[in-house]
Amino acid sequence: MLLRIRPAAAAPSFRSISSDRFSFSIPSFKSLSSALVLFPSTSFFKTNPLHSTITNLSAVHKRYSTTESTTAQLGTDIPQDSEILFVGTGTSEGIPRVSCLTNPYKTCEVCSKAANPGDKNKRLNTSILIRYSRPSGYLNILIDAGKFFYHSALRWFPTIGVRKLDAVIITHSHADAIGGLDDLRDWTNNVQRNIPIYVANRDFEVMKKTHYYLVDTSVVTPGAAVSDLQFKIISEEPFVVHDIKFTPLPVWHGKDYRSLGFRFGNICYISDVSEIPEETYPLLKDCELLIMDALRPDRSSATHFGLPRALEEVRKIQPKRTLFTGMMHLMDHEKINEQLLKLKDSEGLDVQLSYDGLRVPVTL
Ligand SMILES: [Zn+2]
Ligand SMILES: [Zn+2]
Repeated sequence: MLLRIRPAAAAPSFRSISSDRFSFSIPSFKSLSSALVLFPSTSFFKTNPLHSTITNLSAVHKRYSTTESTTAQLGTDIPQDSEILFVGTGTSEGIPRVSCLTNPYKTCEVCSKAANPGDKNKRLNTSILIRYSRPSGYLNILIDAGKFFYHSALRWFPTIGVRKLDAVIITHSHADAIGGLDDLRDWTNNVQRNIPIYVANRDFEVMKKTHYYLVDTSVVTPGAAVSDLQFKIISEEPFVVHDIKFTPLPVWHGKDYRSLGFRFGNICYISDVSEIPEETYPLLKDCELLIMDALRPDRSSATHFGLPRALEEVRKIQPKRTLFTGMMHLMDHEKINEQLLKLKDSEGLDVQLSYDGLRVPVTL
């Protein structure tokens, strides 16, 4: 059974930096990295709440211990509840958008708010970490490692105590889903020998171009240390990662472009979707927690559900609870959540926007 969302008090002082996803095609990697360069590292660290969090670990630890006895404790790997960590909940370019902050008229209210440390509108590339609690310790399974993976990992992993990555599962091969594969070198050089990457063949074919040196390491200069990745090709049939069964949820993410959602236990995760094929609906039955794409408040785009369509799908799928992800800068966290809350009274719908750093205890 799903438990409740951890109260805001459980993760108060370390909030998000941001990023963004959308229909970025692979050749755009270069321009995306240059956007990162525009984020000067000095100001990043000045404003990054993680910096102050690290220096105040003991204070934060105390807060965790006293607010909820069932929460995982900081800096430890003593398994308690299994949980989902929302590593990132935004679109490809990140929120705040650089272009909104450099706009002399400062017309974007959400990005202006998102520039403040701790604001829930700060969002990085959409991704979750499944932390499966076992007697021997947590099993950490990441879904997607996008362009801003390093920043997300830096922000959340040290404070939560996530060290190793047992597997990475890929939804599709856009830059905001696979742009962080190179950053996994820090893990395979310093934490573990390698990382299995579960990926559909069509996306593996893309990686052969975008990350050719990770697919064929024989091209790497001897002595150079790149990520050591073990690619495991998946189809649209269920597969098992360690002890957990994953059922792919094939969806369309734009015309003729396939993306995969995944079901594990009674949790369904669909991060990038513009259309759900009829044959996928039976796989969504009896869903306890649905995590689903909702790009913008007013309408859908060619590649993503907007909020009205996402709500239609919720009514059709009838999950017990829904958390939306993949939000762009038009989605004001507090305002939209306030509106969504009203649907609980009017229709009995339990729907909310997620946010970077949200941890949801689950039973797998
Ligand atoms: Zn903006
Ligand atoms: Zn995409």
